[in-house]
Amino acid sequence: MRGHPENAERLEALAAFLNNKNMLESLVSIPCAALSKDDLEAVHERAHIDNIEQLSARGGGMLGPDTYVTHASYRAAAMAAGASVAATRAVLGGVVQRAFALVRPPGHHAFAGHGEGFCLFNNSAFAAAYALGRLQDKPAQALDRVMIIDWDVHHGNGTEAIFYSDPAVLYLSTHQSPLYPGTGRISDMGRGAGHGVNINIPLPPGVGDRGYSDVFDSVVVAAALRYKPQLILVSAGYDCHWRDQLASMGLSLTGITHIMKVIAQLSDTLCGGRLVLVLEGGYDLDVLRYGVFNTFQALKGEAQFALDPIGPYPDEETPVDSIIRQVRQLHKL
Ligand SMILES: [Zn+2]
Repeated sequence: MRGHPENAERLEALAAFLNNKNMLESLVSIPCAALSKDDLEAVHERAHIDNIEQLSARGGGMLGPDTYVTHASYRAAAMAAGASVAATRAVLGGVVQRAFALVRPPGHHAFAGHGEGFCLFNNSAFAAAYALGRLQDKPAQALDRVMIIDWDVHHGNGTEAIFYSDPAVLYLSTHQSPLYPGTGRISDMGRGAGHGVNINIPLPPGVGDRGYSDVFDSVVVAAALRYKPQLILVSAGYDCHWRDQLASMGLSLTGITHIMKVIAQLSDTLCGGRLVLVLEGGYDLDVLRYGVFNTFQALKGEAQFALDPIGPYPDEETPVDSIIRQVRQLHKL
């Protein structure tokens, strides 16, 4: 929908930029298909799937105050979920070591039973479900432990809820707080067998490159080393950049690239390099263009320096020491 921050221009601008920079020709393109209804049911309730399909068939409508469905949304969302699965299949099948599903609409605010926050189907949840052998098409060897690192500026309330009781998925989120959707408290640590494998790191507005780097070095790395995931999935949201209009964090393009290098190193240490990224938010088109370009460079091990024409955060960074201390204490990291 034109005029809405989450619109088709995001991917059009991104594809054109990557093409102009000769990035696409250096990558392997992975074919993908829309997920079937049966596979969509591996994550979502049938009533939610039918609702999106019927709304699309009727020409579209609003799912909530900020989330729209057009005539093409059911197919687009089923394709986005399918692309996330195809990326994971290619990585687990050894076709490529690392993959990035450049998809929309985003997914991490999609719950089993409803969509919100621009999200219809939960793309990263499908990537995890495939890796864990929960779709009809299964990997040669289903995994037991998957870690999802969600550095979109918003808390992935849908992903958290889907895996809240599930010890097979460590969900870790860095997000601005307070901000939509208002969830993601440190004390929300998972339930039952999933207790301890839900790690929320809510950050005040204005945390920038230094703060994020400290959070990754002292919390994210420690959590990953303890959990020993067999695959790392990333919910990559470029709205944590300081210029994004929907949030107020202080990361630069250089800082985002650093985070991706840390994650790539973790995947080398723990997962034989296997890493799958799924695009979430990011509504400043230049941030999205350069951010994804730099991310590909980091995945290829070629990001000695980030392309950062937008520059550093112009304000003073907010410190994160006390949040890091609280998260480490609560999770015994
Ligand atoms: Zn977001």
